[in-house]
Amino acid sequence: MNEEYPNYNAYLSKLREEFPQFRIRPKRGDRLSTWIDRALKLVTLGRQDRYLTEYHTVLGETLWVPDAWARLGDLERVVLLRHERIHLLQRRRWGSVGMALLYLLPLLPVGLAYGRARLEWEAYEETLRATAELLGREAARSPALRRQIVGRFTGPDYGWMWPFEGQVERWYSAALARVESSLGPADSHEQRTLDSGWS
Ligand SMILES: [Zn+2]
Repeated sequence: MNEEYPNYNAYLSKLREEFPQFRIRPKRGDRLSTWIDRALKLVTLGRQDRYLTEYHTVLGETLWVPDAWARLGDLERVVLLRHERIHLLQRRRWGSVGMALLYLLPLLPVGLAYGRARLEWEAYEETLRATAELLGREAARSPALRRQIVGRFTGPDYGWMWPFEGQVERWYSAALARVESSLGPADSHEQRTLDSGWS
C-alpha cells in the first residue's frame, strides 16, 4: 500500500466494502476509452478533447482514470472518489439500463440533457461537501472551483448538457449554502488543522 496516499487508501478500502466490484483502471491504452475519446471529439466538433487526459469516468463499477490522476494529491483523490460514489449509488438506485437511459441517450443530439445534468448535479454537490470538509470552507467557496463546475454544465465538457448559466449558478449557490449550513458555524482553528493536511 502506498503511504503517499493515507486518506485515499483508507477511503478506497471503505468504498470497496460498499461496492466490492469497484476497481480503478487507466483510460490510456484501453480500446473502449480510445473509441469514446474519438466519438466525443466527433460529436463536440473537437471541443471535448480531454477525455483521456483529464476526465474521470465511472462505467459500471469501474473508475476509468485519465493521465491527470497521477498528479492528484491524497485529499484530492478522496474528493474525487466521493463524487464517483454518488454515481455508484445512482446506478444502484436506477440500475444499469436506467442509468444508461438517463445518462447516455441524450448524447445525441448534444445539449439539453436534463437527466445527465441532474445526475451530475447530485454528484457535484458531494464534490462541494467533500471539498469543504477535507480542504476547508475557503476551498469550497473558491471562484475558480465555481467556474470550473458551472462550466462543466454549460460548456462542451459533457456536450453542453445544461447551457443555462443563470440556472446553474442558482443551483450552485443553493448547494454551497446547504453544504455550509450543514457544517455548522466556522471554526478557524479546526480549519487550519484541516488545511495543514493538504499537500
Ligand atoms: Zn460525475
